[in-house]
Amino acid sequence: MKIYLNGRLVEKSEAKISVFDHGFLYGDGVFEGIRSYDCLVFKLQEHIERLYDSAKSIMLNIPLTKKAMTEAVVKTLKANRLRDAYIRLVVSRGEGDLGLDPRKCRGNATVVIIADSITLYPESLYKNGMAIITVPTVRNIAEALNPQIKSLNYLNNIMAKIEAVNGGCQEALMLNSLGFVCECTGDNIFIVRKGTLMTPPISMGALEGITRNAVLDIAEKLTLDAKENIFTRHDIFISEECFLTGTAAELIPVVKVDGRLIGAGLPGPVTRRILAEFKKMTKKDGVKYSV
Ligand SMILES: *Cc1c(COP(=O)(O)O)cnc(C)c1O
Repeated sequence: MKIYLNGRLVEKSEAKISVFDHGFLYGDGVFEGIRSYDCLVFKLQEHIERLYDSAKSIMLNIPLTKKAMTEAVVKTLKANRLRDAYIRLVVSRGEGDLGLDPRKCRGNATVVIIADSITLYPESLYKNGMAIITVPTVRNIAEALNPQIKSLNYLNNIMAKIEAVNGGCQEALMLNSLGFVCECTGDNIFIVRKGTLMTPPISMGALEGITRNAVLDIAEKLTLDAKENIFTRHDIFISEECFLTGTAAELIPVVKVDGRLIGAGLPGPVTRRILAEFKKMTKKDGVKYSV
């Protein structure tokens, strides 16, 4: 496996960074998770834009142009001869001293690109749907650490994940500090209620997922009744369908929430229709490459 590390492609065993890197010491950095489908990097431009937006927000200077970063992603895929891949793009503050001050990280930011193949959950969960539970840890408030920043500082989500696993589930439903439904640990959430597809507005504290936006585009194309709407756990309990979206998980049906069966307890027709359209979209919407 070849890893992109600061402009060079190196063997996995050589892909090492300093213990003084502030990404390691403080989670000071940003990242993206991207997928390619049959030599097409899905929504690569959107991912690159979001990466640079996250970096701008934390005043992290990425030492590559967006074009060069796009080329670096493609180069990494080609070097690993991957037609279908999950790509992890990480930019950290770089090597500094033991203090917090990012100005002490005098060199360039650290840029890492890993391309591998992963399926987040077993196939049976995609077919039959998964069970999730609400966890006590609420999503970070925007005034403290804005969830729009895809930050390396992922402890908020990891705490929620631990609580879900302790509760016997694979994924956690996270509320915001007001008690409204926000998102899951690395996925956005959708429900279908009385035929209307709904996802919480970004103002509720969820990251604006690229898969989420793709699903909203699909809903428009299919002329489904869809909207961004504030909702509570109760609305999920009485919904007909529920599913999660994210680059790694893609689109996964949820059939049980806090012990309540959702609809018939099986992936619903709207979920299946959107999934079918999503699969079509991954075949045409992205940056092409050859291996
Ligand atoms: C990355 C991420 C998502 C999903 O976003 P996509 O762009 O669809 O991959 C959702 N929530 C959180 C907290 C994330 O980090």
